[in-house]
Amino acid sequence: MENCIFCRIANKELSSEVVYESDQVIAFRDVAPVAPTHILVIPKEHIPAVHNLSMEQRNTLLPAIFEAIDQLVEKENLAEKGFRVVNNAGQEGGQTVNHLHFHLLGGRSLQWPPG
Ligand code: C5P
Repeated sequence: MENCIFCRIANKELSSEVVYESDQVIAFRDVAPVAPTHILVIPKEHIPAVHNLSMEQRNTLLPAIFEAIDQLVEKENLAEKGFRVVNNAGQEGGQTVNHLHFHLLGGRSLQWPPG
């Protein structure tokens, strides 16, 4: 989608530190990390938010996204100490980029509840 910053990253029109890529998914390091590991996992296809996924996309894309997360957890050595997967949806959910993304956070002790 034109003017979507994550579509432009997925299309390699904007540079980013890509750490994982498959046919459907790309993952890159967040430009403003809030933890030692802070990776964004996104579908290449433009989907605004998690509640906009069609039933077919839930069955195909979500497994592909969690396959990426699984591999990144391994690659970043996050399994032993733990990590967090976050999806912000909509304005009150704290979503600032309207292209579906999952934050993978780890490498420090994370607090709960979030703000
Ligand atoms: O969940 P939310 O929409 O707030 O997350 C967007 C994330 O995208 C932020 O953590 C922000 O730092 C990141 N970002 C990025 N590269 C950009 C624009 C935003 O990593 N060019």
